Amino acid sequence: MTEYCGLPLTIKTNPRAKRVLVKLVPGTGLVVVVPKGFRHRDVPPILDEKRGWIERTSATMEARGTDLSGRMPDLPDTIEFRASERVYQVNYLDRPGRITLTENGPRLMVRGPLEDKAAVLDALRKFTARKAREFILPRLDEMSRRLSMPYEALRVRRQKTRWGSCSGRGTLSVNAKLLFLPVELVDHLLLHELCHTEQLNHSARYWNLVAKHEPNFAQLEDDLKRGNQHVPGWFG
Ligand SMILES: [Zn+2]
Repeated sequence: MTEYCGLPLTIKTNPRAKRVLVKLVPGTGLVVVVPKGFRHRDVPPILDEKRGWIERTSATMEARGTDLSGRMPDLPDTIEFRASERVYQVNYLDRPGRITLTENGPRLMVRGPLEDKAAVLDALRKFTARKAREFILPRLDEMSRRLSMPYEALRVRRQKTRWGSCSGRGTLSVNAKLLFLPVELVDHLLLHELCHTEQLNHSARYWNLVAKHEPNFAQLEDDLKRGNQHVPGWFG
């Protein structure tokens, strides 16, 4: 059995697993972790029991733009950073050696061994993370000054699920994927995290502080939850 409910199925044995675990993993599909010695032919009845959950959850994830097909995405011909309103036409040149990216106005030239698709995609994701930092840092600085909410440092990371976080020491971490979102959602995420420099929780006090600066915060929070729909499949 290699698929279930139209999803690619991977069965993994983990000697430390105490029981069978069924997971939906972005970019991979359905993953079943079984304890050592568990017979693979006993997996289907377990999946049948969980079929309702699998169907509901995969539908919700896919509606949010999560890829569960397990296929490696195609290399993009265009890259659109909605937040910064930048669109790149991407050209690829197949040659041996290291992968390099050259930016020339609205064009992005990728040179390298194109058969290593995973490495090319990784280079494009790193490029996106760099552009995200360039775009976000001045906006965050401006907002921080305007609202008199100082922060310690900014980290732009490629994360699977979270849009951002704020540490107790005032280091803000934001997801590089933000660059694909409408700019009002980027600004809202920055406001959300900056307010955590004063209230490191989601208490009523915290939300009052957010509301003071953004009365429409509830709608924006909702839109952020569905933000993955703006993220292209190749970014993952
Ligand atoms: Zn928060």
